[in-house]
Amino acid sequence: MSIHIHKPYAPIEKLELDIAVKKNIQVYLKREDYSHPFISGNKWRKLKYHLLEAERQEKRQLVSFGGAYSNHLLATAAAAAKYKFNSYAFVRGEKVDNQVLKLCALFGMHIHFVSRTAYQNKEELYHTYFGSNPNAFYIPEGGSGELGEKGVSEIMQEPEMQTFDVILASVGTGGTLKGLIKGVAENKLNSQVHGIVVLKGAEQMKEEYAHFNSNSYQLHFQYHGGGYAKHTAELVTFQNKFASQTGILLDLVYEAKMMWALINLIEADYFKPGTKLCALHNGGTVGILSS
Ligand SMILES: *Cc1c(COP(=O)(O)O)cnc(C)c1O
Repeated sequence: MSIHIHKPYAPIEKLELDIAVKKNIQVYLKREDYSHPFISGNKWRKLKYHLLEAERQEKRQLVSFGGAYSNHLLATAAAAAKYKFNSYAFVRGEKVDNQVLKLCALFGMHIHFVSRTAYQNKEELYHTYFGSNPNAFYIPEGGSGELGEKGVSEIMQEPEMQTFDVILASVGTGGTLKGLIKGVAENKLNSQVHGIVVLKGAEQMKEEYAHFNSNSYQLHFQYHGGGYAKHTAELVTFQNKFASQTGILLDLVYEAKMMWALINLIEADYFKPGTKLCALHNGGTVGILSS
């Protein structure tokens, strides 16, 4: 059997933001969130080469990791079902029930809750439960790593994406950001990739980027809003206002912080007038209903 993973539908839309018009910045939004209701955004991009590699190795049991609201696990569960794999997830923390995990289970994913301590050593968990299973295939947390980055880098092959001075995305594991930076380098573009980090105290992640051309990217650490999966009342107000004024839903974990940061950076004259900028909307809206 051979699987074919088609190119996701992710059109680029112009965003008419008052502040951007005032400061002469052209803002576009790449709707990666349109690609699939559950294999949404960067998760589709990141899973592509993991799925192809699993198939190449003739392994049908996908094994991955995530928190109880993981967009990656939901994407893995839906993609596994779609492409006829089995899926198994190690979920961090005590047993809970929520809409995300319910959907995962509906797609046939086997869910195994593990303590936060056990979760820290994913290789060991995998080895203990799947070490002797020749059918198992390891997918890193978030679908990141080399294979995940390769899938994301393909975004920068799209001709319209090559017209932007600045590309902006939220950063969790950073797989998406690294993929974009690689895509910029591979296509010899002058675009600069900006990452809005949603984790607190994550400055040490700079080291992971030290080998990239320092002109090709910028990390922003001041928009975590209290830390991963935490948010301020201001961010909720912003999420509400943005949704009612644009029709675009932003989740509080990633994309609301990304958009908030973008508007703040424009207000602070961070970008040169005339800059043409594209932000990625990487989905995650299922989490809004689940939290
Ligand atoms: C997973 C996810 C991210 C973070 O992507 P990384 O590659 O882990 O940095 C951002 N936005 C949404 C909506 C996500 O689901």
